[in-house]
Amino acid sequence: MNRPVIRRVGNGVVIDTYNKRIAIDKVPKNVSADLYLVSHAHTDHLPPGGNMKVLASNETIELAKLRGYKYIADNGDKYRDIELIDNGHILGSKAFLINGNILYTGDINIYDREFLKGFRPPQADILIIEATYGLRKYIFGEYNKLLDKLIQKVYKSLVNGVNTILEAYPLGKTQLLTNIFKDYENLYVSKSVYNYNKAYQKLGYMKETKYKIYNEQNIIEPILLIKSNTSKIDLKKFRLRTKIIRLTGWMVGREDKGLPLSDHADYPNLLRVVDKVAPKKIYTIFGYSKYFANELNRLGYDAESL
Ligand SMILES: [Zn+2]
Repeated sequence: MNRPVIRRVGNGVVIDTYNKRIAIDKVPKNVSADLYLVSHAHTDHLPPGGNMKVLASNETIELAKLRGYKYIADNGDKYRDIELIDNGHILGSKAFLINGNILYTGDINIYDREFLKGFRPPQADILIIEATYGLRKYIFGEYNKLLDKLIQKVYKSLVNGVNTILEAYPLGKTQLLTNIFKDYENLYVSKSVYNYNKAYQKLGYMKETKYKIYNEQNIIEPILLIKSNTSKIDLKKFRLRTKIIRLTGWMVGREDKGLPLSDHADYPNLLRVVDKVAPKKIYTIFGYSKYFANELNRLGYDAESL
C-alpha cells in the first residue's frame, strides 16, 4: 500500500490515500474529494457550506447551521473506515481516525469539562495534530486548578460589590462558563452567548437556568456577565465598579487581565498526546506549527509543519 500524501490546502487538509481523496475542515470550494470531514463548528474549520455532504457529528451540523453554514449529514458506507473520536474542544467536536492509522486531531482539550469528554487519543502511525499553543511558554496548568482559581476570583469580586465580566470566544467557552456559574442570581449573558446556549440546550447538553440576556435596563448590580469577546458594552452605564476577566490561552503571563482557561491543549498536553499516539510520522498544523514541528524533531520524532 502506498504511503498517503498529506497536504494543507487553504485552512484545511487533503489526504490522498491509495483509493480516495479525503478533504478535512476548511478547504476551499474548488477542491474536489471523495469524502468531506468537518471536525467542529468554529468558523476557521468550516468549509464553505451550500448543502455540501459531510461527515460530522450531528451537533457540529446544527451549530454550523446557526452560523449560516448548511451541510447535509453523510454517514454512508463510504465512511466506514473513518472513526469519530471525542476530542474535548467544544460540543460535537471530533478527531478522525482514518483507516485505523491516520489520526487528525482537530482542536483538542484533554480534560473532562462540564458536559465535554476530554480527548483520549488512540495510537496511530500518522498523526496530524493542532499546534495552536505549540510554543513552550504556553503552560496553562490543570483544568480543575484553573477553574478553582476562576471561581474564587469571580466570587471575591462579586462579594466586594464589583460587577464582573467574563469575556471569551462565544461558541464553546461561554457555554461552559454559563454552566459553571448557573447558580448566581444576577447572571447575564450577551446575545450571541444566549443563542449558542439555547442551541446547546436544544441538543440536550445544558439545562434551562435563570440567566438573563444582558440589556442595560433593569439589571441588578453587582452583575456577573458572560459575554463574547467581540460584543461591546458601555461600562459607564454601571453604578458599581467593573472588573473584566478574559478567558483564553493567550492570557499566559497576563494574569492581571485574565486566566488561561482554554478550549485547547497547552504545550505539555500536546506533547502528552503525541506520546500516547506514538506515531511514526507527525504533521503539525495551525498556530505555532513550525515551532512545534521543530521541537518534536529535536525530541526524536519525525515531524513537519503543514
Ligand atoms: Zn476550534
